[in-house]
Amino acid sequence: MAIRVSSTVPGGADVVADIERRSGERVSACYQCGRCTSTCTGAFAFDYPPHRIMRMLQLGQVDEVLNSRTAQICYDCMTCSTRCPMNIDVANVIEHAKMIADERGIEGDEKEIRLFRLAFLKNVRRHGRLHEARLLTWINFRSFRPFNDLSLVPLILRRKKIHIVPPRIKNRQEVHRIFREINGGDK
Ligand code: SF4
Ligand code: SF4
Repeated sequence: MAIRVSSTVPGGADVVADIERRSGERVSACYQCGRCTSTCTGAFAFDYPPHRIMRMLQLGQVDEVLNSRTAQICYDCMTCSTRCPMNIDVANVIEHAKMIADERGIEGDEKEIRLFRLAFLKNVRRHGRLHEARLLTWINFRSFRPFNDLSLVPLILRRKKIHIVPPRIKNRQEVHRIFREINGGDK
C-alpha cells in the first residue's frame, strides 16, 4: 500500500512532487522496511539515515531534508538502491534533494564537501571530463587557501598524475546534453 504524501510545512508536498517528477522515483511507495539503512555504508555519519529521509519526504518535511547532513554527504554508492524491495532508487532521491538544496543556495554545515561537489560537476561539464589541475586550483582559491598542498605539485607532475592542459574528448556536446537533461533542460 502506498503511503499518501502530505505536507506538514507549506509547499512541502510540492517539493516532494518535484523530486518524484525529476528523479522518476516513487517516494510514496516506501513502506519503511529499513533495508536501505541497514546496508548504508555512510549512515554512521548522517544525521538522518536513508529510511528516515524517505519518511520525512512523505511527511513533507522538506526543510529538514534539504538542510540535512545526509543530503550533503551521501556519496551515491547506491548500496541502498540495490536493496530496496520496492525498487526505489534511494540514492537518486537523495541526489535530487541535494540538487534542489543547491538550487536554493542551501550551504549546510558541510561547506567544503558542497564546494568540492559543485566544483567537480562544473569542471566535468566544462571539459567533458575532469581537469584535475583546474579543479584543485579553483578549490584552493574558493576555500581561501591558495597554497594548500602546493608542495605536492612537483611530485604529482613528475608522476604525470594530472595534466596542465585541459583534456580534449570527442563528443563533448554529449556531456553537455546529459547535464542539460539532468537539469530539466533549463541550461
Ligand atoms: S547512496 Fe548514500 S544513502 Fe545510499 S547507501 Fe550509499 S551513502 Fe548510504
Ligand atoms: S529499502 Fe525501500 S521500502 Fe525499505 S525503507 Fe528504504 S526506501 Fe523504504
